[in-house]
Amino acid sequence: MKTADTVIANGIILTMEGRGAGIINDGAVAIKGTDIAAVGSTKDVLREYSADRVINAHNKAVLPGFIDCHAHSSDAIARGMAQDITGWMYKGIWPVLSCADEEAIKAGSMIHLAESVQNGTTTVCDMVNGIVPVIENHVSLGVRSFISEMVHELPADIYKCDPLAPIDFDHSVGNAKFRNCVKMTEKYHGYDSGRINCMVGPQAINMCSVEMMDTLYDYARKNKLGVTIHVAQSDRENIQVEKRYGKRAIPLLKEHGFLGEDVLGIHLTCATLGELKTMVDSGCPMVLCSNSIAIIGGEMPPASEYLELGGIVGMGTDQAPGNNRNNMFQEMKNGSLLNKCKHKNGTVFPAWQMLRMATIDGARALRRENEIGSLRAGKKADIIIVDLEYPALTPIIRGPIRNIVPNLVYSANGSEVETVIINGKFVVEDHKLLTVDLKKAIDRANEAADRFSEKLYRFQGLNDLPLAKWTSEGLY
Ligand SMILES: [Zn+2]
Repeated sequence: MKTADTVIANGIILTMEGRGAGIINDGAVAIKGTDIAAVGSTKDVLREYSADRVINAHNKAVLPGFIDCHAHSSDAIARGMAQDITGWMYKGIWPVLSCADEEAIKAGSMIHLAESVQNGTTTVCDMVNGIVPVIENHVSLGVRSFISEMVHELPADIYKCDPLAPIDFDHSVGNAKFRNCVKMTEKYHGYDSGRINCMVGPQAINMCSVEMMDTLYDYARKNKLGVTIHVAQSDRENIQVEKRYGKRAIPLLKEHGFLGEDVLGIHLTCATLGELKTMVDSGCPMVLCSNSIAIIGGEMPPASEYLELGGIVGMGTDQAPGNNRNNMFQEMKNGSLLNKCKHKNGTVFPAWQMLRMATIDGARALRRENEIGSLRAGKKADIIIVDLEYPALTPIIRGPIRNIVPNLVYSANGSEVETVIINGKFVVEDHKLLTVDLKKAIDRANEAADRFSEKLYRFQGLNDLPLAKWTSEGLY
C-alpha cells in the first residue's frame, strides 16, 4: 500500500474534470507533499493509500480552490469608500487612496487576501499599486499568487485632471514602478515551489506611454512572464486613446503587438463585437469582474459574447472600494444573475459554468490548467472542503436531479468553507486561518485606517467627494 500525507474521504468530490463539475458522489482525494496523489471513489483510494491523517468529508463538498483572476489587494484599506457615484476613479478611488501610506496599503492588502482565502480562494492574481510592501503578505499567508506591480505613469494629482483629456504622463512614476517589478521578480518569482509567480501589469493603454508599454512587454516576453492589463475598461479609455493616437484601445494594442495568449485582458466592458473578436483571435483570455463593474458603472462586461466567439473567460473580484467583497461565491452568483438580466434569459451562465469559470477556466486564463483548477492526480493540492450541513445547503440530493452545484453557486456564501489547502499545506482549518493571526491583522488595518482618515480630513479636495458630502449630511 502507498502512503499519502492526507486522505480526504467520503466526500462529494467536484473534480471539475470533463465538461461539467465531474462529480464523484462518494469520493476521496489523497495528498502527498504539494501534489494530489489520487482522486477516485473512497473505496478505491483507501484501498491504494494509507495516510497519517484521514479527513471524514461526509456531507461535505470537496473541490479545487477558486482562482481569482483579477484583484487589487492594495486598494482594500479604502473598502466601502467609493461606491454609488459616477466618475469612480476621479471622484472616488484616486483622491481617497492618495491619502493612504505604505503601512495602510500593506495592512489593507492582508485583510483582502485573508478574506479571499477564508472564502475558498486558493489563487489570487493581484495587480498591486505598490508591490514591495504587499508581496510579503502573499508569502506569509500561503496563497498561490500571480502578482504584478500595476505600472502607470499617472501624475500625483491625476484626480484634478480632465477625465476626457489624454493624461499628461509622468515617466518617473512608470520608471520607478518598472524597477519595482524587476526587483520583485528577481527576488520572488518561483518562490516556494512555484507558489509565488510574478507577472507584468501595465495598468491600461491610456495610463502608460507606448514607450513604457514596449519596455514592459519586452521584459515580460524575455522572461516568459504573463502580462495582465485592463482593456477597454471604460469609454474614457477609448476617448483618451483616440484623442492621442487616432484609434481606440484594442486596435492600438493589436497594432503594437500588445495582445497574445500571454496577455490577460481585464474587463473589456467597452469593447465592440469586432474588437472582442480581435482579442479572441489574438488568443487573449479575458476576466469577468461582475460585482465591481456593476457597482462602479452599472454595466456588465461582454463575457457571454466572448465565450460565444471561442474565448477563455476567468473570473475576478477586483477591489474592495468597489466590489466590496473578495469572495468568489458572490462572483459566481451575482455574475450569473447579472448576465441573465442583461440578456433577459435565464439560461445564460448556468451554475456549472460559473463554477468552471471560478476554477478550471481561471486556470486556463492563467495558462496553468496543467497545474491547478481541477482535482486530478499530479496537479497541485489546492483544495477546499465546504460543509454542506447548513440550512441554506440542505437537503443534499444526489440524484436524479442533483442539487450540489446550484446550491454551491446560488446558496453558499463562503462562510461554509471549512478547510483550505494550498500547495498541500493546510491554510484554513475548522474555518480558521492558520498562517496569519487574523485578529492582529484586523487590529493593524484599523490602526492604519485611523491615520488614513486623519489624513483624509486634511485632504484639500475633500469637499468635492460625493461620499464625504453624504457623510457630513448624515446620509452615510
Ligand atoms: Zn482592476
